[in-house]
Amino acid sequence: MKNKTKETQCSFCHKPKSESALLISGIDGYICETCVEQAYHILNDEMGLESEDKPATTKKDGKKSQNSKPTMLTPLEIKNHLDAYVVGQDETKKILAVAVYNHYKRVMQEKSTDDVEIEKSNVILVGKTGTGKTLLAKTIAKVLNVPFTIVDATVFTEAGYVGEDVESMLTRLLQACDYNVEAAERGIVYIDEIDKIARKSDNPSITRDVSGEGVQQALLKMLEGTDVLVPPQGGRKHPEQKLIKVNSKNILFICGGAFDGVEKNIARRINTHVIGFGKDEEKEVDRDDLLRYVSHHDLKSFGLIPELLGRMPVLTYLEPLNRETLRLILTEPKNALMRQYKKLFDFEHIELIVSDEVLDFIVDKALEYSLGARGLRSICEAIMTDAMFELPSKKNVKKFELTLEYAKSKLSRTKLATISV
Ligand code: ADP
Repeated sequence: MKNKTKETQCSFCHKPKSESALLISGIDGYICETCVEQAYHILNDEMGLESEDKPATTKKDGKKSQNSKPTMLTPLEIKNHLDAYVVGQDETKKILAVAVYNHYKRVMQEKSTDDVEIEKSNVILVGKTGTGKTLLAKTIAKVLNVPFTIVDATVFTEAGYVGEDVESMLTRLLQACDYNVEAAERGIVYIDEIDKIARKSDNPSITRDVSGEGVQQALLKMLEGTDVLVPPQGGRKHPEQKLIKVNSKNILFICGGAFDGVEKNIARRINTHVIGFGKDEEKEVDRDDLLRYVSHHDLKSFGLIPELLGRMPVLTYLEPLNRETLRLILTEPKNALMRQYKKLFDFEHIELIVSDEVLDFIVDKALEYSLGARGLRSICEAIMTDAMFELPSKKNVKKFELTLEYAKSKLSRTKLATISV
C-alpha cells in the first residue's frame, strides 16, 4: 500500500520536496528555489533593482562594476551615444560603431555551428593629437559598459629589455574591472601612440629595435588572441610570481596615433596611382585633408609591420578640429567644459554666465597658439582660476558674468606662454 502522508511541498508552486533542489521553510509553509528566483526577478522588475545580467551593477561604494556581458546596441544606437559626447567625426563614428557592433556580435554568438568564423575587428585610428581618438575609444567602452584601459605604446619594450612587457596592458584592464577575468576578456584596450613604435628604418641595423619593431612583434599574438599570463601588479614578470591567465581573443584593441608626416606617404601613393595628377595639382592638395585617404599601405611605409597591420583591419582617420568644432566642443557635449564650470559654480549657488564673445575668444586663442581641443581646458582654467578662488568665500554673490574684458585681462600673454597641453 502507498504511503498516503502528504510530501512536503512548495507552498507557491506545489513542487514536492523530492523534486526541489532546495525548500526553504517559513512559519506556515515552504518555498522552492525556482519560486525564490522568480520572486527575485519580480522584485527587480517592480522595484527597479538591478539584476546580474543588467549592464551595470552599482557597488556599495557607489562605483559601477562591469559584469561580463556588454550592453548590446545597434550601430545607430552606438553612434547616437557617441554624438552626445564627441563632436563631429561622423565618418569615424560610423566606422567605429559598425566595427564594435560586429566585434561584440561575434563575441556573443561565439558558439555558432557553421564554419564561418567572423574575424576580430581591431581598429586603428589616425589623427592629429587632441582630435578625440582617446575620447572616442573611452566613450565606446562606457556606452557598452565594458572594462577599458588606455596604454601608451612607448612604454613597452621587447621582453628582456628595460621597460614594460606588452602583457602589462592586460594588468591595467584587469585592474579596471576589479580582476574580473571574464569581464576583462571582453574589454577594450586603447593603445595610444602606436605610431611611435614604427620601425626605425627600413634597413636592418646592428642594434636591435627593442622599442619599435620588437614591440610590434610582441603585440602580434596579443592582438590576434591568445592566452596571456598576466602579472597581477604589472611590471616585469618574475619566476615566483603568481600569474593570471587572460585570453585576449575577444578583447577589442583600438590603436591610435598621429602618424606625423604620413601625409607625404599618402601624397606619394596618390601621385603614382592617379594618372594625370601633376606636380602642380599635388601642391594644391590641402595637407590637412590628405589623411582622409590614409590606407594600410601608407602606415606600412610609415614603419608598421604588415603582420601588425593585418591584425587591425579597420582603419579610419580623424578630421582636424576647425573653429566651429572647437566652439561646439566648449558647449555641446554632455560633459562639455562650459557645463562643467557651470556645475562647479552651481555648487556655490552662483550662476555662471558666459557670453558668446568670450567663447569665441577662447577658441581664437586655442587656434592662435595651436593648442587644439586640449588647450581649451587650459585656457578656461587660466581665465576662471581667480574667480573660482575668490567667489566661494564671498557671501551673497548669486551671479558671475564672465565678460570679454575679464577674460582678456586674466589671459595675459605671460600666462598663455605657460599653458601646457
Ligand atoms: P587624442 O587621443 O586624439 O590625442 P583626446 O581624445 O585625448 O585626443 O582629446 C583631448 C581632449 O579634447 C578630450 O578630453 C576632449 O575633451 C577634447 N576633444 C577632442 N576632440 C573632441 C571632439 N571631437 N569632441 C569633443 N571633445 C573633444
